[in-house]
Amino acid sequence: MALIVQKYGGSSVGSVDKIKRIAEKVKRYRDNGDEVVVVVSAMGGETDRLQGLAEELDGRPVAREMDVLLSTGEQVTIALLAMALRHLGAEAQSFTGWQVPIVSDDAHAKARIQRIEPDNLRSALDAGNVAVVAGFQGITESGEISTLGRGGSDTTAVALAAALGADECQIYTDVDGVYTTDPRVVPNARRLEQITFEEMLEMASLGSKVLQIRAVEFAGKYGVPLRVLSTFDDGPGTLITLEDQVEEPIISGIAFTKDEAQLTVLGVPDRPGIAYSLLGPIGEHNIEVDMILQNVSGDSSSDYTLTDFTFTVHSRDFDAAKELLEKSAKELGAREVSGQSGITKVSLVGVGMRSHANVAARMFKALSDENINIRMISTTEIKISIVIETKYLELAVRALHDEFELDEEPQRVDSGLTPTADQD
Ligand code: ADP
Ligand code: ASP
Ligand code: MG
Repeated sequence: MALIVQKYGGSSVGSVDKIKRIAEKVKRYRDNGDEVVVVVSAMGGETDRLQGLAEELDGRPVAREMDVLLSTGEQVTIALLAMALRHLGAEAQSFTGWQVPIVSDDAHAKARIQRIEPDNLRSALDAGNVAVVAGFQGITESGEISTLGRGGSDTTAVALAAALGADECQIYTDVDGVYTTDPRVVPNARRLEQITFEEMLEMASLGSKVLQIRAVEFAGKYGVPLRVLSTFDDGPGTLITLEDQVEEPIISGIAFTKDEAQLTVLGVPDRPGIAYSLLGPIGEHNIEVDMILQNVSGDSSSDYTLTDFTFTVHSRDFDAAKELLEKSAKELGAREVSGQSGITKVSLVGVGMRSHANVAARMFKALSDENINIRMISTTEIKISIVIETKYLELAVRALHDEFELDEEPQRVDSGLTPTADQD
């Protein structure tokens, strides 16, 4: 007998008919003798719909009420799934976040789970129930409803699996695993048999929404066996693994995000502390800064050398960040602030990059062959990100997918572990 946590995303619970099919699937696990905790999202599109209602009413809704509103989507689906299971003769009990309880900090809309008290779930399971838990929501120490950020049901599932010591956490969705890139953009993207936590963490943080980044972080930290699978098709899916493969592909995937905005301050006097003066107020307003670029502009028409300073933020923070930047730029005597929202970041991810030097050159050549202008570049050991105009997104991702032959079984990097014939 195994304890399995299963999570079904929005498109998997998008209709009563689909909920019935999930109930049948869950019941098969029960009949097999497994204990099952099911985490569900709201019906597909529901969270967006609720958000739209609030925005229609009030452009800047209060965070507390927003969480009260958004958390209702998941309350609908847990009740329906528990009913569907009972209808099939399987005992089931639904749990909202506070009924578990899943205790979070009080950062509304992006709360972090702090602890889960597993006793209520344990009793429900011991009594033979399937426990059906609302994803994406928690309760703060002071009793307020919180939500965990978009895609947060993944994190609920992983956190429950860790708290209950589950044998596996299965994330069921509308694709049959993690692919080399979003299969909706590149039709010949390839499903990965497995991917390391490290790579999955990069992919998620660089925009692959197949798993929420915090879910991957959590699973890595607590060693939760995690698998991404298709809800309605059978198959092995993709295992997120701790072990490094003996041989690593150079590139495991391409991630992208369209929701970036670029801000530039031109002609800032180049003296100690400017980065802090420009970015400090932005950080204080909880706006996350992503890529940062500072360059000496060579313009020495004033007493100081002047520099240009560029960085990216999420599109939703563009207006607020620009306002703050204009204020600091004026105080610093900078020449001008410019910006553009709706730009795209494309990233190549792969632990094999560590041992391969010319990945960046190949990337830049592939983009230049397509006449795509690169606006910014940032690299770490295992990823290279570039910022381009959104209109080139699909072209860029497809060109890179072809260049690195990601539709084929991986090119292998010699790990150095296998002696070749001419070595002693
Ligand atoms: P759910 O509602 O089940 O949580 P999501 O929409 O959040 O599903 O995530 C699944 C989607 O993630 C897929 O439909 C796919 O378009 C997208 N996606 C982005 N990158 C990848 C990738 N590398 N592999 C698989 N899917 C990806
Ligand atoms: N319903 C929430 C969302 O749409 C949480 C989730 O689906 O994981 O973001
Ligand atoms: Mg999701």
